[in-house]
Amino acid sequence: MLGEDAQRHAARDARRCKRSLSYLQLRRIAALSPDPLLHERFMQCDRKVRRIGRPTRLVVGCFLILLGVAVGALFVGIAVSGSHRSVGFPIQGPIAGVAMFLLLGVGVLRGAFGYNPAKVIRVMTAQGICPSCLAFLDGAPVQSDGCVECPDCGAAWRAPVITSAPAP
Ligand SMILES: [Zn+2]
Repeated sequence: MLGEDAQRHAARDARRCKRSLSYLQLRRIAALSPDPLLHERFMQCDRKVRRIGRPTRLVVGCFLILLGVAVGALFVGIAVSGSHRSVGFPIQGPIAGVAMFLLLGVGVLRGAFGYNPAKVIRVMTAQGICPSCLAFLDGAPVQSDGCVECPDCGAAWRAPVITSAPAP
């Protein structure tokens, strides 16, 4: 994985406290959940969160990968024809460039690119999951300032929050 911790989005909760958003960990925590109901709840949240910014990610990620493939094909053509020798063309540079484009493209597709933190927070709290630590917000009381406090990490999130588990 491409250093997922480094890709965590920093955001502020409803009380302006700095929090890191853990939406890229939803699939991992779903895989670790032995209860199929909890697993499905995390996966459902993951599917909704991944819709945020998906068109941007697809366009930019696929463009970078196609660019890498096109440049790679061009240089393979030059190498096969042998014309680089006559112009003294170093082939290592282009190979590194192609690899960089491909890695960038995959990073864009899999990473935090294109996610809007405010939308992520809205989607995750609507699913009753803390955007910061992924704890369930079920049953957490609404405070006097209209916030729901995460019982695990203490982050404060605005309603709407589903405060009961969805019916099976
Ligand atoms: Zn939390």
